[in-house]
Amino acid sequence: MPQLFGSKELVEDVHKRDLCIGCGACVELCPYFKNYRGKTAQLFPCSLPQGRCFAYCPKAEVDLDALSRRFWNTPYDARPLGVYQTVVAARSGDAMPRAKYQGGGTVSALMVCAMQRGLVDAAALTGRQGLMPAPRLVTRWQDVASAAGSQFMASPTLAGVNMAVRQGYKQIGVVGTPCQMLAVAQMRINPLEKEEHHVPVALAIGLFCNWSLDTRQLSTLLEGRVASDAIRGMDIPPPPANVMLVETDKGMVEIALSEIKPLIPHTCFTCLDMTSEFADLSVGMYEGRPGWNTLLVRSEIGARLVADAQADGLLVTEAIPAETIAHLSAAAAAKKERSLRILLQRGLVNTANGQRAAVRIPQAAISRILPKA
Ligand SMILES: Cc1cc2nc3c(=O)[nH]c(=O)nc-3n(C[C@H](O)[C@H](O)[C@H](O)COP(=O)(O)OP(=O)(O)OC[C@H]3O[C@@H](n4cnc5c(N)ncnc54)[C@H](O)[C@@H]3O)c2cc1C
Ligand code: SF4
Ligand code: SF4
Repeated sequence: MPQLFGSKELVEDVHKRDLCIGCGACVELCPYFKNYRGKTAQLFPCSLPQGRCFAYCPKAEVDLDALSRRFWNTPYDARPLGVYQTVVAARSGDAMPRAKYQGGGTVSALMVCAMQRGLVDAAALTGRQGLMPAPRLVTRWQDVASAAGSQFMASPTLAGVNMAVRQGYKQIGVVGTPCQMLAVAQMRINPLEKEEHHVPVALAIGLFCNWSLDTRQLSTLLEGRVASDAIRGMDIPPPPANVMLVETDKGMVEIALSEIKPLIPHTCFTCLDMTSEFADLSVGMYEGRPGWNTLLVRSEIGARLVADAQADGLLVTEAIPAETIAHLSAAAAAKKERSLRILLQRGLVNTANGQRAAVRIPQAAISRILPKA
């Protein structure tokens, strides 16, 4: 594993390089880091030479090869969709309550099943307070659907995992974006190797993500057009729509993507993962098939949960055409390529001579992503 450092280095490497995505992994661990309106900041300096804040952060010294060997027993080779067992089309089944799911409700159905079957005793989900996404800790399966739908903003969701640990939960479930799943993977391996720092994550469900939006900038843009308490949901339909849709009490508000795209945090352009490669299960939209999701089954825990959810009538799955998988793979490979170029330009990969990197990956993986480099 890479060397571990403390909060001083976290601030230098992540905050000052404008790499923080506000995932919340360093929040609620100690009194020093707080997230306020989408931005994480250090309130007071801390002199510990090593900290969980640095160890969990998905933007500081992440060793993808070590994680891949640990989780998947294989070197990191930059395959576009990561390591997985199967990929299927999925949607929630008849046993699920009706709710405003983002796609087919697959994420909610899997988390409901995990809670009903006793795999998970608390789920760290994402809700919204006004326009701001916020962690929502759910301890009853009946409340899972209340967090359905996507907030297309960077969210401090993982502060919810740290809160769950503090409250004594022993089988924590979590849903999040690929950067958040990277942080969760680092939480799961207890990098500081101290028993009191064990994070009992029993289930990690990752989302697909190409980019998110800066919370403060999006709320400023929306404030002029929509009352925050009138927002019912948001969606970014696939091309050629070219708009973001905000559903309100009074109808749909369309915002051109040309207005939205400047609000993407710079750190999203250095992100190699589109499909949450270190989660137990990964879920995204099924392009061209509304009401369905694409579901990647990665771990044994994930495979068992999918079988249980089908048996309980909570989840329906179908085969997915090879050309749909090829299309998804191409999109994931394109994200790796453009992000690796930027990471290399900024000198953030595999640094030497005591310089700290954002990410460490084998040379063979670099050559696979950028064959002509
Ligand atoms: C920022 C972002 C970008 C995305 N980009 C893509 C994309 O490019 N392509 C694609 O196919 N899919 C993308 N998705 C995923 C997609 O929007 C759906 O979340 C996914 O298809 C699951 O649908 P569902 O019906 O199963 O979810 P639901 O059952 O409705 O559950 C949604 C879950 O998402 C969680 N959630 C909501 N907002 C956030 C957030 N900001 N951070 C972390 N967790 C959150 C909630 O806790 C809830 O559990 C993105 C999601 C987010 C949050
Ligand atoms: S752990 Fe998350 S919130 Fe904290 S510095 Fe890293 S990216 Fe930012
Ligand atoms: S693009 Fe990457 S860094 Fe940005 S929100 Fe999505 S997973 Fe996180």
